[in-house]
Amino acid sequence: MQKTIIKNAHVISPGVDVENATVVVEGGRIARVTTAKVPEKGAKAVFDAKGHYLMPGFIDVHTHGALTYDFCDADPKAIFEIARGKLEEGVTSFLPTTLTVSHDELATAAKNLKAYADAGMPYAKTPGIHLEGPFINVKCCGAQNPEYVRKPDIAEVKAIAKIFPVRQISYAVETEGGAAFAKQCFKIGVVPSCGHTGAKLADLMKAYKNGLRHMTHFCNQMTPLHHREIGMVGAGFLVEDLNTEVICDKIHLCPDMLKLIFTRRSLAHIQMITDSLRCSHCKDGYAFTMGGLEVKLENGEARLVKGGNLAGSTLWMGMGLKNVHDVTGIPLKDLVRTTSWNQAIEQGWGNDLGKVEKGFVADLVAINPRSWKPSAVFVDGERKI
Ligand SMILES: [Zn+2]
Repeated sequence: MQKTIIKNAHVISPGVDVENATVVVEGGRIARVTTAKVPEKGAKAVFDAKGHYLMPGFIDVHTHGALTYDFCDADPKAIFEIARGKLEEGVTSFLPTTLTVSHDELATAAKNLKAYADAGMPYAKTPGIHLEGPFINVKCCGAQNPEYVRKPDIAEVKAIAKIFPVRQISYAVETEGGAAFAKQCFKIGVVPSCGHTGAKLADLMKAYKNGLRHMTHFCNQMTPLHHREIGMVGAGFLVEDLNTEVICDKIHLCPDMLKLIFTRRSLAHIQMITDSLRCSHCKDGYAFTMGGLEVKLENGEARLVKGGNLAGSTLWMGMGLKNVHDVTGIPLKDLVRTTSWNQAIEQGWGNDLGKVEKGFVADLVAINPRSWKPSAVFVDGERKI
């Protein structure tokens, strides 16, 4: 079998921090991780990581766009461009995330994703869609358009999943039928997530009893902590096994909140996300509309022109990891599970993705420890960047 050798790597993987390591890749999977000398003769390719961090490729379960494109654009080019941008960030797998829009627009997005899959997914890989809405609470829309909000309807989800798989749905658990909807999601292989929600703890626990274990962008667009009703923020701290998505750009959550979350919650149940918008990879001043609402990028912050609500981020996963590492001092070998492996476990790929370990798929990112930007990205053992 043809082998690729990655030498002089500083391997960072859940529970592992080894310098001067060599990773041997065979048939798209990791065959060996060692500090012993590996003969290079006969290898198809040898890559010198120059001491950069070698981590599991990032898995972003919540991203709307990049490079001026959004998945909800009725443009087949969008998914190709965004997947190319995500790969540049070191993301090897992602869930394209849709907005609260009409059913027809969602169906078109699904068709475009199918075309990307049919083309062999030349950039970052995607196993399916994350529907953010349309089944949200109209009072907690954030930058989602309230005009398109509707009640949970599994038939609509099934219709989209017929075109391209749906992997995750962010919805408001307190809406009529919200608790039962969690069960219906599991039946068709979808991870239900509580998001854009005005729920009380009791509302959440009804869905929790039906298996719901995920929270969409924890703290953003959900009920805050109050001492007589702890809301969804309180629930995230009280209920340990809720998998909380966190946007680690130090804008959506202040550094102290990031510190509170990462030092008080179990790291096994935190998933870093970007929630990146089309303005990701763009310069300040870039303006666009999102679900019919005007947004402008200023000082790296994407906000609604009307009202000023945050609309999403321009964050790269590697920078999120750096931010949390800086703020908390938590070792990278402990934090790194929040950028891939936790996501992989919840999505059912915990034995394949998220570790730099023998037997795992060779989806890898080399991160320059000075710039925190990727210097190389491998997908299924093939160097793509
Ligand atoms: Zn989002």
